[in-house]
Amino acid sequence: MNGPPIPWGCLRVTDQMISQVGTLEELRRRPDESLRDFPDAVLMPGLINAHCHLELGMVRNLLPPGEAFPMWVSRLRKALEGAAPEDYRQASRLGALECLKNGTTTVVDVGNTGESLHELASLPIRSFPYLEVIGLDPALAQSRLENALHRLGALPKASGLFSPGITGHAPYSCSPELLRGLAAAMPQASGPFTMHVAESAEEYAMFKEGKGALLDFCRRIFPGWAEPAGQSPIAFLAAKNALPRNAILAHCNRADAADIRILAEANCSVAHCPRSKAFFGHEGFPVQAMRDAGLNLCLGTDSLASNEGLSLFDEMAELHRQHPELPCTDIVAMATVNGAKALGRSGELGVLRPGAAADFIAITLRHHPEYDLFEEIVGESHEVLTAVVNGEEVFG
Ligand SMILES: [Zn+2]
Repeated sequence: MNGPPIPWGCLRVTDQMISQVGTLEELRRRPDESLRDFPDAVLMPGLINAHCHLELGMVRNLLPPGEAFPMWVSRLRKALEGAAPEDYRQASRLGALECLKNGTTTVVDVGNTGESLHELASLPIRSFPYLEVIGLDPALAQSRLENALHRLGALPKASGLFSPGITGHAPYSCSPELLRGLAAAMPQASGPFTMHVAESAEEYAMFKEGKGALLDFCRRIFPGWAEPAGQSPIAFLAAKNALPRNAILAHCNRADAADIRILAEANCSVAHCPRSKAFFGHEGFPVQAMRDAGLNLCLGTDSLASNEGLSLFDEMAELHRQHPELPCTDIVAMATVNGAKALGRSGELGVLRPGAAADFIAITLRHHPEYDLFEEIVGESHEVLTAVVNGEEVFG
Protein backbone atom coordinates (compact mmCIF):
# COMPACT_ATOMS: atom_id res chain seq x y z
CA MET A 1 0.00 0.00 0.00
CA ASN A 2 3.08 2.19 -0.24
CA GLY A 3 3.81 1.77 -3.96
CA PRO A 4 3.46 -0.99 -6.54
CA PRO A 5 3.78 -4.63 -5.42
CA ILE A 6 7.37 -5.94 -5.47
CA PRO A 7 7.91 -9.34 -7.15
CA TRP A 8 9.98 -11.57 -4.85
CA GLY A 9 9.57 -8.91 -2.23
CA CYS A 10 11.33 -9.04 1.09
CA LEU A 11 10.98 -7.26 4.42
CA ARG A 12 13.64 -6.72 7.02
CA VAL A 13 12.26 -6.64 10.56
CA THR A 14 14.38 -5.05 13.24
CA ASP A 15 12.93 -5.24 16.73
CA GLN A 16 9.29 -4.14 16.39
CA MET A 17 9.68 -2.22 13.15
CA ILE A 18 10.01 -2.76 9.45
CA SER A 19 13.48 -1.42 8.70
CA GLN A 20 13.78 -2.17 4.98
CA VAL A 21 11.59 -3.20 2.03
CA GLY A 22 12.81 -4.44 -1.35
CA THR A 23 13.93 -7.63 -3.06
CA LEU A 24 16.07 -10.24 -1.32
CA GLU A 25 19.06 -9.13 -3.41
CA GLU A 26 18.57 -5.52 -2.39
CA LEU A 27 18.25 -6.36 1.27
CA ARG A 28 21.46 -8.46 1.34
CA ARG A 29 20.96 -10.93 4.10
CA ARG A 30 23.46 -10.60 6.92
CA PRO A 31 25.01 -13.78 8.33
CA ASP A 32 23.45 -13.29 11.76
CA GLU A 33 19.92 -12.82 10.40
CA SER A 34 17.26 -15.49 10.20
CA LEU A 35 15.17 -15.76 7.05
CA ARG A 36 11.55 -16.84 6.71
CA ASP A 37 10.50 -17.76 3.20
CA PHE A 38 6.88 -17.82 2.00
CA PRO A 39 6.83 -19.14 -1.56
CA ASP A 40 3.59 -18.61 -3.51
CA ALA A 41 2.50 -16.03 -1.01
CA VAL A 42 1.85 -12.33 -0.74
CA LEU A 43 3.30 -10.33 2.10
CA MET A 44 0.95 -7.50 2.91
CA PRO A 45 0.06 -5.21 5.80
CA GLY A 46 -1.96 -6.74 8.61
CA LEU A 47 -5.62 -5.81 8.16
CA ILE A 48 -7.37 -3.24 10.35
CA ASN A 49 -10.90 -3.99 11.56
CA ALA A 50 -12.38 -0.53 12.13
CA HIS A 51 -15.52 -1.75 13.92
CA CYS A 52 -16.24 -4.91 15.89
CA HIS A 53 -17.63 -6.16 19.20
CA LEU A 54 -15.56 -9.22 20.09
CA GLU A 55 -17.35 -9.88 23.39
CA LEU A 56 -20.59 -10.84 21.59
CA GLY A 57 -19.06 -13.92 19.97
CA MET A 58 -21.13 -16.37 21.99
CA VAL A 59 -24.30 -15.51 20.04
CA ARG A 60 -22.85 -16.51 16.66
CA ASN A 61 -25.57 -17.99 14.45
CA LEU A 62 -28.24 -17.59 17.16
CA LEU A 63 -30.08 -14.58 15.75
CA PRO A 64 -32.08 -14.77 12.52
CA PRO A 65 -31.17 -12.33 9.72
CA GLY A 66 -33.50 -9.78 8.20
CA GLU A 67 -35.47 -8.68 11.27
CA ALA A 68 -36.23 -5.11 12.25
CA PHE A 69 -33.52 -3.57 14.42
CA PRO A 70 -35.59 -3.29 17.66
CA MET A 71 -36.52 -6.98 17.37
CA TRP A 72 -32.84 -7.88 16.86
CA VAL A 73 -31.91 -5.90 20.01
CA SER A 74 -34.59 -7.79 22.01
CA ARG A 75 -33.35 -11.13 20.73
CA LEU A 76 -29.75 -10.19 21.47
CA ARG A 77 -30.61 -9.26 25.06
CA LYS A 78 -32.43 -12.56 25.49
CA ALA A 79 -29.55 -14.53 23.97
CA LEU A 80 -27.13 -12.85 26.40
CA GLU A 81 -29.28 -13.48 29.50
CA GLY A 82 -27.26 -15.29 32.13
CA ALA A 83 -23.93 -14.75 30.37
CA ALA A 84 -21.15 -14.53 32.95
CA PRO A 85 -18.11 -12.23 32.77
CA GLU A 86 -15.98 -15.22 31.80
CA ASP A 87 -18.28 -15.90 28.82
CA TYR A 88 -17.59 -12.40 27.49
CA ARG A 89 -13.89 -12.85 28.13
CA GLN A 90 -13.77 -16.17 26.35
CA ALA A 91 -15.68 -14.71 23.39
CA SER A 92 -13.16 -11.86 23.26
CA ARG A 93 -10.17 -14.25 23.32
CA LEU A 94 -11.65 -16.45 20.63
CA GLY A 95 -12.63 -13.39 18.60
CA ALA A 96 -9.10 -11.98 18.74
CA LEU A 97 -7.71 -15.35 17.63
CA GLU A 98 -10.22 -15.51 14.79
CA CYS A 99 -9.07 -12.04 13.71
CA LEU A 100 -5.40 -13.06 13.72
CA LYS A 101 -6.15 -16.34 11.90
CA ASN A 102 -7.80 -14.26 9.21
CA GLY A 103 -5.04 -11.70 8.87
CA THR A 104 -6.40 -8.89 11.04
CA THR A 105 -3.69 -7.44 13.27
CA THR A 106 -5.51 -4.33 14.56
CA VAL A 107 -9.04 -4.11 15.95
CA VAL A 108 -11.23 -1.16 16.90
CA ASP A 109 -13.36 -3.02 19.43
CA VAL A 110 -16.45 -1.77 21.27
CA GLY A 111 -17.86 -3.50 24.34
CA ASN A 112 -20.16 -2.49 27.17
CA THR A 113 -19.20 -5.08 29.77
CA GLY A 114 -15.53 -4.07 29.94
CA GLU A 115 -14.52 -7.74 29.74
CA SER A 116 -13.09 -7.46 26.23
CA LEU A 117 -10.82 -4.63 27.40
CA HIS A 118 -9.48 -6.84 30.19
CA GLU A 119 -8.67 -9.55 27.66
CA LEU A 120 -7.29 -7.37 24.90
CA ALA A 121 -4.84 -5.78 27.35
CA SER A 122 -2.83 -9.00 27.33
CA LEU A 123 -3.57 -10.46 23.88
CA PRO A 124 -1.01 -10.24 21.05
CA ILE A 125 -3.22 -8.14 18.77
CA ARG A 126 -3.07 -4.36 18.36
CA SER A 127 -6.27 -3.02 19.86
CA PHE A 128 -8.18 0.23 20.26
CA PRO A 129 -10.89 -1.08 22.59
CA TYR A 130 -13.68 1.17 23.84
CA LEU A 131 -15.87 0.88 26.88
CA GLU A 132 -19.30 1.76 25.54
CA VAL A 133 -22.05 3.48 27.54
CA ILE A 134 -25.65 4.41 26.86
CA GLY A 135 -28.07 6.85 28.46
CA LEU A 136 -30.83 8.77 26.71
CA ASP A 137 -31.87 10.80 29.74
CA PRO A 138 -29.81 14.03 29.74
CA ALA A 139 -30.20 14.21 33.52
CA LEU A 140 -28.10 11.05 33.77
CA ALA A 141 -25.30 12.21 31.47
CA GLN A 142 -22.92 13.39 34.18
CA SER A 143 -23.29 10.31 36.37
CA ARG A 144 -22.98 7.95 33.38
CA LEU A 145 -19.83 9.76 32.28
CA GLU A 146 -18.31 9.64 35.76
CA ASN A 147 -19.19 5.97 36.03
CA ALA A 148 -17.58 5.23 32.66
CA LEU A 149 -14.38 7.05 33.63
CA HIS A 150 -14.33 5.22 36.95
CA ARG A 151 -14.69 1.86 35.18
CA LEU A 152 -12.03 2.81 32.63
CA GLY A 153 -9.71 3.80 35.46
CA ALA A 154 -10.04 0.31 36.94
CA LEU A 155 -9.05 -1.33 33.63
CA PRO A 156 -5.48 -1.95 32.50
CA LYS A 157 -3.71 1.24 31.38
CA ALA A 158 -2.70 1.99 27.80
CA SER A 159 0.59 0.37 26.86
CA GLY A 160 2.23 -1.12 23.81
CA LEU A 161 -0.45 -2.66 21.63
CA PHE A 162 -3.33 -1.60 23.86
CA SER A 163 -5.02 1.85 23.61
CA PRO A 164 -8.31 1.81 25.57
CA GLY A 165 -10.96 4.53 25.45
CA ILE A 166 -14.62 5.29 26.18
CA THR A 167 -17.49 5.82 23.79
CA GLY A 168 -21.25 6.24 23.45
CA HIS A 169 -23.36 3.81 21.48
CA ALA A 170 -25.54 5.85 19.09
CA PRO A 171 -27.66 9.02 18.86
CA TYR A 172 -30.80 7.00 19.69
CA SER A 173 -29.31 5.47 22.84
CA CYS A 174 -27.23 8.37 24.19
CA SER A 175 -28.22 11.95 24.89
CA PRO A 176 -26.17 14.60 23.08
CA GLU A 177 -25.02 15.74 26.54
CA LEU A 178 -23.57 12.29 27.23
CA LEU A 179 -21.89 12.07 23.80
CA ARG A 180 -20.30 15.51 24.24
CA GLY A 181 -19.06 14.57 27.69
CA LEU A 182 -17.59 11.27 26.53
CA ALA A 183 -15.81 12.84 23.58
CA ALA A 184 -14.35 15.58 25.77
CA ALA A 185 -13.15 13.07 28.37
CA MET A 186 -11.32 10.71 25.99
CA PRO A 187 -7.91 9.82 27.44
CA GLN A 188 -4.92 11.18 25.51
CA ALA A 189 -3.55 7.73 24.64
CA SER A 190 -6.84 6.51 23.14
CA GLY A 191 -7.79 6.29 19.53
CA PRO A 192 -10.35 8.74 18.09
CA PHE A 193 -13.94 8.88 19.31
CA THR A 194 -16.18 6.26 17.71
CA MET A 195 -19.91 5.56 17.64
CA HIS A 196 -22.71 4.07 15.54
CA VAL A 197 -24.81 6.40 13.41
CA ALA A 198 -27.30 6.34 10.53
CA GLU A 199 -27.37 2.56 10.35
CA SER A 200 -30.99 1.69 9.67
CA ALA A 201 -34.22 2.92 8.09
CA GLU A 202 -35.76 2.87 11.59
CA GLU A 203 -33.05 5.20 12.92
CA TYR A 204 -33.53 7.56 9.97
CA ALA A 205 -37.33 7.60 10.46
CA MET A 206 -36.93 8.30 14.19
CA PHE A 207 -34.91 11.47 13.65
CA LYS A 208 -36.17 12.68 10.29
CA GLU A 209 -39.85 11.87 10.62
CA GLY A 210 -40.33 11.45 14.37
CA LYS A 211 -41.95 8.05 14.05
CA GLY A 212 -41.31 4.34 13.65
CA ALA A 213 -40.43 1.23 15.61
CA LEU A 214 -37.11 2.52 16.92
CA LEU A 215 -38.68 5.69 18.32
CA ASP A 216 -41.36 3.57 20.05
CA PHE A 217 -38.61 1.33 21.43
CA CYS A 218 -36.58 4.30 22.72
CA ARG A 219 -39.68 5.92 24.27
CA ARG A 220 -40.33 2.74 26.24
CA ILE A 221 -36.79 3.01 27.66
CA PHE A 222 -36.85 6.78 28.12
CA PRO A 223 -40.39 8.22 28.04
CA GLY A 224 -39.01 11.77 28.21
CA TRP A 225 -37.61 11.73 24.65
CA ALA A 226 -38.85 15.02 23.19
CA GLU A 227 -36.40 15.91 20.43
CA PRO A 228 -38.23 17.51 17.47
CA ALA A 229 -38.10 15.58 14.21
CA GLY A 230 -36.88 16.91 10.89
CA GLN A 231 -33.17 16.17 10.86
CA SER A 232 -31.24 13.12 9.73
CA PRO A 233 -29.31 11.33 12.52
CA ILE A 234 -26.03 12.84 11.29
CA ALA A 235 -27.49 16.36 11.01
CA PHE A 236 -29.00 15.92 14.49
CA LEU A 237 -25.58 15.09 15.96
CA ALA A 238 -23.96 18.04 14.21
CA ALA A 239 -26.71 20.44 15.35
CA LYS A 240 -26.23 19.23 18.94
CA ASN A 241 -22.46 19.65 18.72
CA ALA A 242 -22.19 15.92 19.41
CA LEU A 243 -20.23 14.86 16.34
CA PRO A 244 -16.57 15.03 17.38
CA ARG A 245 -13.97 15.83 14.74
CA ASN A 246 -11.94 12.89 13.39
CA ALA A 247 -14.42 10.34 14.78
CA ILE A 248 -14.79 6.83 13.35
CA LEU A 249 -18.49 6.43 12.58
CA ALA A 250 -19.82 2.91 12.11
CA HIS A 251 -22.31 2.32 9.27
CA CYS A 252 -23.58 5.69 7.90
CA ASN A 253 -25.77 3.69 5.50
CA ARG A 254 -28.36 6.47 5.53
CA ALA A 255 -26.39 9.54 4.53
CA ASP A 256 -27.66 12.18 2.10
CA ALA A 257 -25.58 14.85 0.37
CA ALA A 258 -25.86 17.26 3.32
CA ASP A 259 -24.85 14.49 5.74
CA ILE A 260 -21.80 13.64 3.65
CA ARG A 261 -20.76 17.31 3.68
CA ILE A 262 -21.07 17.34 7.48
CA LEU A 263 -18.92 14.20 7.78
CA ALA A 264 -16.29 15.56 5.41
CA GLU A 265 -16.11 18.92 7.21
CA ALA A 266 -15.65 17.10 10.53
CA ASN A 267 -12.94 14.93 8.95
CA CYS A 268 -14.76 11.82 10.13
CA SER A 269 -13.99 8.30 8.88
CA VAL A 270 -16.74 5.81 8.04
CA ALA A 271 -16.45 2.18 9.14
CA HIS A 272 -18.56 0.29 6.63
CA CYS A 273 -19.68 -3.23 7.60
CA PRO A 274 -20.81 -4.96 4.36
CA ARG A 275 -21.89 -8.32 5.77
CA SER A 276 -23.66 -6.83 8.80
CA LYS A 277 -25.52 -4.50 6.41
CA ALA A 278 -26.55 -7.52 4.33
CA PHE A 279 -27.58 -9.45 7.47
CA PHE A 280 -30.05 -6.75 8.48
CA GLY A 281 -31.04 -5.94 4.92
CA HIS A 282 -30.18 -2.26 5.49
CA GLU A 283 -30.40 -0.12 2.41
CA GLY A 284 -28.16 2.73 1.41
CA PHE A 285 -24.45 3.41 1.83
CA PRO A 286 -23.79 5.97 -0.92
CA VAL A 287 -20.23 4.87 -1.53
CA GLN A 288 -19.59 6.93 -4.66
CA ALA A 289 -20.85 10.18 -3.15
CA MET A 290 -18.71 9.52 -0.07
CA ARG A 291 -15.65 8.87 -2.24
CA ASP A 292 -16.33 12.03 -4.26
CA ALA A 293 -16.44 14.01 -1.03
CA GLY A 294 -13.05 12.59 -0.03
CA LEU A 295 -14.36 10.71 3.02
CA ASN A 296 -11.98 8.15 4.50
CA LEU A 297 -13.76 4.79 4.18
CA CYS A 298 -12.73 1.79 6.28
CA LEU A 299 -14.03 -1.72 6.81
CA GLY A 300 -15.43 -3.44 9.88
CA THR A 301 -17.05 -6.76 10.67
CA ASP A 302 -19.46 -5.58 13.37
CA SER A 303 -20.24 -8.43 15.79
CA LEU A 304 -21.03 -12.13 15.45
CA ALA A 305 -24.59 -11.17 16.44
CA SER A 306 -25.00 -9.86 12.88
CA ASN A 307 -22.22 -11.62 11.00
CA GLU A 308 -21.08 -15.19 10.47
CA GLY A 309 -17.36 -14.52 10.88
CA LEU A 310 -14.69 -11.93 11.64
CA SER A 311 -12.64 -12.18 8.44
CA LEU A 312 -11.97 -8.87 6.70
CA PHE A 313 -11.09 -10.81 3.56
CA ASP A 314 -14.73 -11.93 3.55
CA GLU A 315 -15.83 -8.31 4.06
CA MET A 316 -13.69 -7.22 1.10
CA ALA A 317 -15.24 -10.00 -1.03
CA GLU A 318 -18.76 -8.98 0.02
CA LEU A 319 -18.07 -5.31 -0.71
CA HIS A 320 -16.73 -6.33 -4.13
CA ARG A 321 -19.98 -8.23 -4.78
CA GLN A 322 -22.13 -5.31 -3.61
CA HIS A 323 -20.06 -2.67 -5.44
CA PRO A 324 -18.24 -4.25 -8.39
CA GLU A 325 -17.52 -0.73 -9.65
CA LEU A 326 -15.04 -0.10 -6.80
CA PRO A 327 -11.39 -0.66 -7.76
CA CYS A 328 -9.96 -3.60 -5.82
CA THR A 329 -6.92 -1.53 -4.83
CA ASP A 330 -9.31 0.84 -3.07
CA ILE A 331 -11.08 -2.06 -1.33
CA VAL A 332 -7.74 -3.34 0.02
CA ALA A 333 -6.93 0.25 1.05
CA MET A 334 -10.15 0.35 3.10
CA ALA A 335 -8.87 -2.60 5.17
CA THR A 336 -5.31 -1.26 5.55
CA VAL A 337 -4.13 2.34 5.00
CA ASN A 338 -7.59 3.88 5.46
CA GLY A 339 -8.00 2.14 8.81
CA ALA A 340 -4.61 3.48 9.84
CA LYS A 341 -5.61 7.00 8.77
CA ALA A 342 -8.84 6.73 10.78
CA LEU A 343 -6.77 5.84 13.85
CA GLY A 344 -4.36 8.72 13.26
CA ARG A 345 -1.58 6.18 12.55
CA SER A 346 -0.85 6.81 8.87
CA GLY A 347 2.60 5.58 7.89
CA GLU A 348 2.82 3.47 11.03
CA LEU A 349 0.05 0.91 10.46
CA GLY A 350 -1.58 -0.60 7.35
CA VAL A 351 1.53 -0.20 5.23
CA LEU A 352 4.86 -1.94 4.57
CA ARG A 353 7.55 0.72 4.63
CA PRO A 354 10.70 1.43 6.61
CA GLY A 355 9.69 2.93 9.93
CA ALA A 356 6.25 1.29 10.05
CA ALA A 357 5.30 -1.10 12.84
CA ALA A 358 6.08 -4.71 11.88
CA ASP A 359 2.38 -5.66 11.61
CA PHE A 360 2.08 -7.83 8.51
CA ILE A 361 0.73 -11.09 7.15
CA ALA A 362 1.58 -13.65 4.50
CA ILE A 363 -1.32 -15.12 2.53
CA THR A 364 -1.30 -17.95 0.00
CA LEU A 365 -1.71 -16.59 -3.50
CA ARG A 366 -0.42 -18.00 -6.78
CA HIS A 367 -0.35 -14.74 -8.69
CA HIS A 368 -0.76 -15.04 -12.43
CA PRO A 369 0.73 -12.10 -14.34
CA GLU A 370 -2.37 -11.87 -16.56
CA TYR A 371 -4.44 -10.96 -13.52
CA ASP A 372 -4.55 -7.91 -11.34
CA LEU A 373 -2.99 -8.81 -8.00
CA PHE A 374 -5.53 -6.78 -6.03
CA GLU A 375 -8.42 -8.54 -7.75
CA GLU A 376 -6.87 -11.83 -6.71
CA ILE A 377 -6.54 -10.61 -3.11
CA VAL A 378 -10.16 -9.43 -2.97
CA GLY A 379 -11.79 -12.08 -5.13
CA GLU A 380 -10.17 -15.32 -3.98
CA SER A 381 -9.99 -17.12 -0.66
CA HIS A 382 -6.60 -17.42 0.98
CA GLU A 383 -4.90 -19.16 3.81
CA VAL A 384 -3.14 -16.85 6.23
CA LEU A 385 0.32 -18.41 6.67
CA THR A 386 1.53 -16.04 9.33
CA ALA A 387 0.46 -12.97 11.23
CA VAL A 388 3.13 -10.75 12.74
CA VAL A 389 2.24 -8.04 15.24
CA ASN A 390 4.86 -5.61 16.49
CA GLY A 391 7.62 -7.85 15.14
CA GLU A 392 6.34 -10.99 16.88
CA GLU A 393 4.92 -13.90 14.94
CA VAL A 394 1.61 -14.42 16.75
CA PHE A 395 -0.04 -16.81 14.36
CA GLY A 396 1.53 -19.19 11.91
ZN1 LIG B 1 -21.55 -2.15 15.99
